[in-house]
Amino acid sequence: MPTQVNPATGEEGDTFPALNDDQIEVKLAKSVETFRQWRNTDYQTRTDLLIKIADQFAAQRTTLAAIVTKEMGKPVKQALTEMDKCEKAFRFYAENGPAMLAPTEQKLVSGRSVSHWLPYGPVLAVMPWNYPFWQVVRFMAPTIMAGNVGLLKHASSTPGCAAALEQIVLDAGGPEGLFQNLHISSSKVAGIIADDRIVAVTITGSEFAGQKVAEAAGFNLKKVVLELGGSDPFIVMPSADIEKAATTAVTARLQNAGQSCVCGKRMIVHEDVYDAFMEIFAEGVKTIKIGDPTDEITEMGPLSSEGARDEIAEQLEQAVQQGATKLYGGEIPDKPGAWMTPAILTDIPDDAPIAREEFFGPVAMVFKVKDLDEAIEVANNIPFGLGSSAWTNDESEKERFIRDIEAGMTAINQMLASDPYAPFGGIKRSGHGRELGSHGLHEFMNLKNVMLP
Ligand code: NAP
Repeated sequence: MPTQVNPATGEEGDTFPALNDDQIEVKLAKSVETFRQWRNTDYQTRTDLLIKIADQFAAQRTTLAAIVTKEMGKPVKQALTEMDKCEKAFRFYAENGPAMLAPTEQKLVSGRSVSHWLPYGPVLAVMPWNYPFWQVVRFMAPTIMAGNVGLLKHASSTPGCAAALEQIVLDAGGPEGLFQNLHISSSKVAGIIADDRIVAVTITGSEFAGQKVAEAAGFNLKKVVLELGGSDPFIVMPSADIEKAATTAVTARLQNAGQSCVCGKRMIVHEDVYDAFMEIFAEGVKTIKIGDPTDEITEMGPLSSEGARDEIAEQLEQAVQQGATKLYGGEIPDKPGAWMTPAILTDIPDDAPIAREEFFGPVAMVFKVKDLDEAIEVANNIPFGLGSSAWTNDESEKERFIRDIEAGMTAINQMLASDPYAPFGGIKRSGHGRELGSHGLHEFMNLKNVMLP
């Protein structure tokens, strides 16, 4: 039974009753019934609805942002930016979706064929709390455009966001059953994946949850997209604009209190510019405005929960035990809520296991390297391969980073961020498959090839 807990104060809010098996059955049956109709709608009907949902995001942005702030502590200014991004994603698929679904023709050895993008069916999405609207919208907008229907198992800590996401489709005039929220515990997920009516599943979350979902999907021979963790490198070379790199590194590491999968989590800095970088970076980390997340000027609020904060504190302690130097921060104030000051770790021994882990909170690991090869070696010396950011004005170094960093995404001289127009996803233990752009739309569609004389 998910209950809201405000991480800024520790106070409890509303409780959302968990669905029982009969209620889950009703929702599954409804999703199939709606799919039978939605799959036959024309593109105009789908894009009209996408625009109406975008309009709802614009109209309700303040109310929706307030739910985010209350449930997971995101500073309100950042929560409002999240709503604006959701609106843009719906408009993006409304404007570009039909062209992405245009049939393609091939000349064959004998005759020709035309390939058509057809809807797939009801898809289950298992989603996290860190961008509780944006993560879901990345799945929801292409689902609607594709002619599919969606079922959402959201994080237990953001039940209000989950309920609002279902409601916004209805507010926009979407049919009942097109996008349904399931208030269920994670123990129910494998059973739903096994249900014949569910054709595919996508999960954004931890490696552990990804394994469980992939296991169930694999056993039932269903397609799965995995958007899992990361410990992205943020590499700074001597030819870069060091001031801009160091200032951006503060935002890259501490956005959303460090709880973004594509945060720059490991700063890898060339020895020639290490001191100059650290002077600006450490000052930025120390002076970030921490405070009440409902206040417009706050840059960093609490972590998402006291449990999540305690896990980060424990990881920080392990890092020091394994030989790292805690340069600054990681203090837990004596007050209710999931508060913690941001921390910087340096001199992390090469063989320390912590160097290969993800800090899903406001802790920066800084590595000093002697040249380009070592920068790439440190960048790749992790099990993950989600994003990366590389700062250099040397063209041959840029080419090496694009070619050799093992990641699904590389940003040059800027912070990595998701964008509705561009494919998003990782390799290695960060998962597989892509969201956003045309690739995200095609992930859960049937590319039917039609042979013609
Ligand atoms: P999490 O514990 O894995 O939770 C994510 C979702 O998975 C929640 O809905 C959760 O439900 C569900 N879940 C947990 N255990 C499950 C199981 N055994 N079977 C089925 N579902 C299960 O993740 P988190 O710690 O909240 O989120 C942080 C992680 O997500 C980080 O590693 C981060 O890097 C990653 N992430 C990746 C991306 C990306 O795009 N690649 C984006 C954001 C976050 P309950 O809440 O009910 O447990």
